Amino acid sequence: MGFDRNQYLRELETIVNIDSGSRNPAGTGKVAAFLEEKYRQQGFQTELVSVGPEVGPVLVATNAPDEPIDLLFIGHTDTVFLDGEASRRPFTIKGERLYGPGVYDMKGCSLLTAYLMENLPAELKRSLNICVIHNPDEEISSFYSREVIIEKAKMAKFAFVMEPSAADGSMIKERKGIEKLKIHFKGRPSHAGDAPEEGRSAINELAYWIVQLNTLIDHDAGVSVNAGTIQGGTVPNVVPEHAQMELDYRYSNPIDVTAFLDMLEDLQIHAAEKEIGIDIAVIGRRPPMVDVPGAKALRSVFEDVGKQMDTVISFKKSGGVSDANFTTSVGVPTVCSIGLIGGAFHTDHEYVELDSIFSRLELLTAVIAEMSRRKMFCTSADRLRVT
Ligand SMILES: [Zn+2]
Repeated sequence: MGFDRNQYLRELETIVNIDSGSRNPAGTGKVAAFLEEKYRQQGFQTELVSVGPEVGPVLVATNAPDEPIDLLFIGHTDTVFLDGEASRRPFTIKGERLYGPGVYDMKGCSLLTAYLMENLPAELKRSLNICVIHNPDEEISSFYSREVIIEKAKMAKFAFVMEPSAADGSMIKERKGIEKLKIHFKGRPSHAGDAPEEGRSAINELAYWIVQLNTLIDHDAGVSVNAGTIQGGTVPNVVPEHAQMELDYRYSNPIDVTAFLDMLEDLQIHAAEKEIGIDIAVIGRRPPMVDVPGAKALRSVFEDVGKQMDTVISFKKSGGVSDANFTTSVGVPTVCSIGLIGGAFHTDHEYVELDSIFSRLELLTAVIAEMSRRKMFCTSADRLRVT
């Protein structure tokens, strides 16, 4: 394999040292442009798709436009860090680990995707229709890029979501779905001593909602409810006019979102009876990443190839979300978190294990070759049907 580790590290340094928080369109744009050039150099057709002024472009790179896609790769260009983080703690290598904002989640992995394409044997690459998406807003729920992801996923046979692997090297097969809401309660203020009966307490209604919503919690079934923030009221002797909470509801089984949405409807009826105005803003929403048909066969390729390479491959379930939640929602067998090994993501001490760069490149190359050998990709008959 003609992998030039020094070049990879130099390029990783370049993109890690670009501030690219989700709300920094120029920053994610620069990272996308850098990666675009890498794909262009290997003959991919590329496009920077604008998804609105709030975020940077989505990079779509493909070696076979207008064809059904054998393999869809997804990785993001944004990080959770604010501007200035890159100069505060730029890319560094200490011993066997790499550090810097987003090095692990997931600039190292996004760059690895470009190197993976570059290192695929020419004949294998020619025989496959590959599409790569690098989106700018994964850390804010992929609100702007989800349409592009879903559109491409609908044409894809398999999806590899290149998020980083856990510290123990484990990958992810299922993820919870999420409903993240900001709910505002508007009551009626009144003197708490003089005319309490005139007041309509926004805080009382909020408290009622939390108690009711918590009855949905079923940890065995993978359902959790968390009222993560609350605010409200002004002073003790005024019935509070305003209250607000941010709520995080997670679930494993797609049907469990219904119970949640039904309860929200009931609660809104309750609020109306109490003369409390309600305003609900959805700030995060993804269906669960589920075990769709074909996913087990895909995972078994990873496990078998891992055995041949003396690498233990294990797949776990996660309570966190990723763009894999979207690909399985349209039935595409998907593996997630197959990228670089490291840890402490979303913190200032996130790191990547240096030796995982080559080992993951080797593993993923071998997996794709084995999938081809097992004839898992589109046949020419498939292509005729779709085109
Ligand atoms: Zn990520």
